[in-house]
Amino acid sequence: MLNNSYDIDKTLLWNLTVLYVEDEKLIAEEVYFFLSKYIKNIHIAYNGEEGEKLYHKIKPDIIITDIQMPKQNGLKMIEKINNKNIPVIVTTAFSDVEYFVEALELNINKYVMKPIDLKKLLEDIQECITISNIKNELFKHDNLVNIVNTNILLSITNTKGIIIEVSDAFCNFVGYTKEEIINKSHAIFKYNKTPNSFYKHLWSSIKNGKIFEGEIQNLKKNGEVYFLNIRITPIFKGKQIINYIAIGENITDKKKLELLVMEDDLTKLYNRRHFNEIINKETRRIKRNQGILHMLIVDIDYFKKYNDTYGHPKGDEALKMVANIFKKSMSRVSDYAFRLGGEEFCLIYTNMTKKDSIQLAQKIVKHIEDLKIKHKTSIISKYLTISAGLMIQNSSNIDEKLLYKNADEALYLAKTNGRNKLVVSKDCIK
Ligand code: GH3
Ligand code: MG
Ligand code: MG
Repeated sequence: MLNNSYDIDKTLLWNLTVLYVEDEKLIAEEVYFFLSKYIKNIHIAYNGEEGEKLYHKIKPDIIITDIQMPKQNGLKMIEKINNKNIPVIVTTAFSDVEYFVEALELNINKYVMKPIDLKKLLEDIQECITISNIKNELFKHDNLVNIVNTNILLSITNTKGIIIEVSDAFCNFVGYTKEEIINKSHAIFKYNKTPNSFYKHLWSSIKNGKIFEGEIQNLKKNGEVYFLNIRITPIFKGKQIINYIAIGENITDKKKLELLVMEDDLTKLYNRRHFNEIINKETRRIKRNQGILHMLIVDIDYFKKYNDTYGHPKGDEALKMVANIFKKSMSRVSDYAFRLGGEEFCLIYTNMTKKDSIQLAQKIVKHIEDLKIKHKTSIISKYLTISAGLMIQNSSNIDEKLLYKNADEALYLAKTNGRNKLVVSKDCIK
């Protein structure tokens, strides 16, 4: 038995299948006798040809072979087997020197000098297998890298925001070649509608070593919009951030569906369902951030008469034109335009003084009349007009129900006081 100078992993060794090739029977038997105490499956071949055949039959975990043998020498055998993944131990004598150059070209893991130190041979076997197992693990990692490269939308950015590596999957997805992306900043994908505040928040998170997660809307090379759920992880070396790894999940289809659900079919403004969501979100945001929220409710004047006079299809067209004015007026990120139903609309906006807000609302009312959509049965104008009610609240008194109620009451006053005008709620902030 072995002493404890080297830790023998009995299970590892016992379950190995070994191919041992040696033409000198006495040596073969001695080695076999010793090794078989530790290893269950040892197969002996007595020349290179036999060894080669046996190799294909038993598929060993390791090959131990002599060099000089009849029929086919050990190196030729290894060369023909040509399996770089299994370890090879060559037993050799000084007389084999002439073969050494040849041996170097092969993938031989260990040389064991004759006469063979059996204990050392066993240790070598264990070492070779252990290393080989690690290599196999690495091979699996290689595979993993491959899988990531072809399937995951991944980019690595340096601390200045310059892209230093991207996966093939990412290149395919955005339609750029790797060369077109590397050394550029992410700005090449930037979609104008993504607010700068988004990027500010992103950078301040990752610069502080925090993982950033969020939905980002970008552009492919062909101009197509895509949505990613991204997760950006800062990579540290010691205490210093060296780069950022971004992994994206393509959520474009989901986002498009979401848009469909919150959009009004006819006008493409947001619908009432989305209004309910946004008004809730915005009032909570105002409460937190000490802001001001403006709500303008709009209703088309004498629209029933318009339909009766020009027909429903013309009415639809008029609705679209009116909606377009609202959309254009609400172009900032924190602005929203909704069609609440029929010919009633609502605009919500923030970051504006009361004075500017009133001016904006008056402009919108005027803008609609300026479209000069003929409305001969209207009592107050030659053209299609709207009435509007404005309500403004700040964080101290914000209440989504009251906001709507007061704006709607102001609208009612605009209707009863002659239409084609704006009324500012008396409950507005001063
Ligand atoms: P007021 O000035 O008091 O608002 O009068 P109005 O006629 O505009 O108001 P009323 O609520 O009596 O009528 C609204 C009309 O809007 C009735 C309906 O035919 C029309 N309408 C609602 N939805 C649509 C639509 O999708 N397309 C068209 N063409 N008309 C619509
Ligand atoms: Mg109306
Ligand atoms: Mg109405």
